[in-house]
Order: sequence, then C-alpha cells, then structure tokens
Amino acid sequence: MLSKNDPEKKTTKSSKKASPKSTTAAAETSSLDVREQLFNEGLIGPVRAVQVSAARITQVRGLMFDVDPGLLKPDGAMGEIPATPVNFYERVIRPILDRSPVLAKAEVRSSGTGLHVILGFDAPYQCDSDAAREDIARVADVVLCLLPSDPMQPGITAVTRPIGSLNSKNGATVELITPGEPVTYTEVRDLAVRFVASPFRMLCEVLFGGERIRPCPVCREAETTLVVQEHYGNCYGCGKVTLPQIWNSLYRVSKEVNDGQEE
Ligand SMILES: [Zn+2]
Repeated sequence: MLSKNDPEKKTTKSSKKASPKSTTAAAETSSLDVREQLFNEGLIGPVRAVQVSAARITQVRGLMFDVDPGLLKPDGAMGEIPATPVNFYERVIRPILDRSPVLAKAEVRSSGTGLHVILGFDAPYQCDSDAAREDIARVADVVLCLLPSDPMQPGITAVTRPIGSLNSKNGATVELITPGEPVTYTEVRDLAVRFVASPFRMLCEVLFGGERIRPCPVCREAETTLVVQEHYGNCYGCGKVTLPQIWNSLYRVSKEVNDGQEE
C-alpha cells in the first residue's frame, strides 16, 4: 500500500486512526470557522458538529486533497512555490491536474492559505457495508499520494471549507477557483488500481510530465536525467531512485511538515 508517511512499511490501511487526532487539532485551531462535509449529508457547520469518525460515514460525496504550499520545499523538485493560493494553483497544481484525465475534473477551492482539490462524485458512494467503506478508504489512501498534498491529512473523513466562508487564521475568504466536473467512483478506483500497478511511473508522469525528467528531481544536477520505470527510476547522478526519494524532494523536512499542520 502506498503511503507518503511510511512508504516502505506495510499497513492494513484502516489508518483512519489519523482522523480523531486531526479533528482535535482542527477544533483547537479554528473553532469559529465552519467546515463542509464531503460525506453523509454534506452538512456545513462548526468542525465539532460536522466532523465524524470513519465508522459513522454512510456515504462519500467526494475525496479531498489538502494542498498547502507552505509544506513544500520552496526550491524543491516543484520549482518555485508561489505563496498565494491562486498563483500556486496556476503555476504548480493546475499543470499537475491537467496531466490526469481524472484529476483534471477536480473542483479547486482556495482555503485561504492553500488549496482544497476535490474529486466530487456524480452520485454519493454508498458505504452500505464495512467492506464498501474499507474499499473507498483504501482508494482514498492511494489516490491522495498522487498530489503533493499534506501527508498528514485524513482520507474519507476530511472536511473542506465552504465557499464564501472566512478562514479566521488569516482573514481570507474561501473562494472557488475552478468548479470542476463530477467523476465516477469507477474512474477514481481505476486510477488507484493503475497507481498501485505502476506507482513510480504514474507519480512521475503526473508530477513532472514525462518518462525522462531533466534534470533529475532528486539530485537536480545539471545534465542529469531521471529515467522512469514502473517501480523506481534511474539517474546517472544518484543511481536508483525510489518513491520516498521523490516525496522527500517535494516536502520540507518532516519535522517542519508536522509542525506546519492544518490549513
Ligand atoms: Zn539524480
């Protein structure tokens, strides 16, 4: 199973244990701000009122990537990282989304400091059994690894900020950047299945747009090329390159990432 946090360790991914922690953090940092469910009835309200555990999710309306430019290396593999959400979207995230027919359908909101990239389902996915809920939770865990999103963000329990609401942390209003269009669960699940089959290739194609990346995003030495294979890459400068090395090339060191929490 793919995971940015511990890519080498196998887990039985009901890692939704992450959600109670993030619920608490969200309530502490912004108890006055409202959030919007991307599950159940899509309720809008204070985070304590709308946040639920994975076990209480009966249907999923969409999957969200929480993308914060502050978590990314300012001079890393993504190049210059604009600080304002709209510029960050136009220069960094939009080209990434456009490389995937599924991700290109995402709705994008400016959360105030970063972006909420939302794959909205044409019809809510029904969690009518534990197996059905586990299926979409696994799909979410995989697909969330495709974008340079917050490695600590929850999966199907994630809540977004409603358009027009205030982000009290910086006084910004949440704005719609692009409305996107609906996706089917089958499309998103297929994306996850293809990602698991060729993880290194798909991640590099989405992030960097090719099978021969110049210069290599890991060593970034002049004249180097990263040649992309299914599960790893090769660079004449740094040798064999693995998925965790690609992620490390994107994010600030993990302590900074952990300290930088919550939009
Ligand atoms: Zn290299």
